[in-house]
Amino acid sequence: MRESAARAEVNVTEFRIEQEPYYLPIGRECERFEAAWRARLPVLLKGPTGCGKTRFVEHMAFRLLGAARKDREAQLITVACHEDLTASDLVGKFLLEGEETVWVDGPLTKAVGTGAICYLDEVVEARKDTTVLIHPLTDHRRILPIEKKGTVLRAHEDFLLVISYNPGYQSVFKNLKPSTRQRFVAIEFEYPPVEAESKILAHECGLPDKEAKELARLGEKVRHLKSQGLEEGVSTRLLVYAGKLMAQKIPPREACEMALAQALTDDPDVQRAVRDLVQAVFP
Ligand code: ADP
Repeated sequence: MRESAARAEVNVTEFRIEQEPYYLPIGRECERFEAAWRARLPVLLKGPTGCGKTRFVEHMAFRLLGAARKDREAQLITVACHEDLTASDLVGKFLLEGEETVWVDGPLTKAVGTGAICYLDEVVEARKDTTVLIHPLTDHRRILPIEKKGTVLRAHEDFLLVISYNPGYQSVFKNLKPSTRQRFVAIEFEYPPVEAESKILAHECGLPDKEAKELARLGEKVRHLKSQGLEEGVSTRLLVYAGKLMAQKIPPREACEMALAQALTDDPDVQRAVRDLVQAVFP
């Protein structure tokens, strides 16, 4: 997979996927996503940070759209949404090049035109004017009005809009409006159960099965610290980091200090609680 990070002000990644990205299904999410794509129903991925949503869309983009081609270099275009992200960041803008003004497609326009999957990560963070763009793309019209050019772009038949949303982060100020929300079918994600997570860790970190299992068991225990101020527990992503350090021969406790205790919190009491669990699993 080759990634090309585009402009500084918009965090866009175009995934030109050359090989099937590894994804271990936890339930029927692959079948559900495939059905939604075949029916061209926009999809909302719900779930905590670092639980596999991005890896899942990468995997599905490859499965459904196949290898990259000349006319569709990227099967997946992802945008990390933030509070300054505007509609024109997504659609595109006129730029001055020497004496000339040239139109430059934004990531959404590119995906709509080339039939890629467009993944708007943490969409509630974006400015309100972005929802205006999303609506006509999510119903039978499947169009993108490009106001600045005075044109309307009809979506390529393969195009699909996918958004993600972390219910744990929402506040009354930042939430998906029902009028937007009710345009998507939702697939819910959770952190994987121990058996599955240990397989993922073994694969991602190159750890022996025994260590992968211990790390997954530790993850499960840390997630039980919710009541002590660790709201989301620990992500699969952080467990992968710990496992990668262990694979580099950092002793397990030290790896967990770096990737778990210190990375998760600054609260000394919670750090102590995490350390106790680490010691119980890696005596
Ligand atoms: P999110 O997009 O939900 O924040 P990611 O997709 O970036 O999370 O997941 C973080 C990492 O966890 C991935 O890079 C991958 O290594 C691992 N991961 C989580 N779930 C799975 C899974 N079911 N199969 C394979 N890898 C997974």
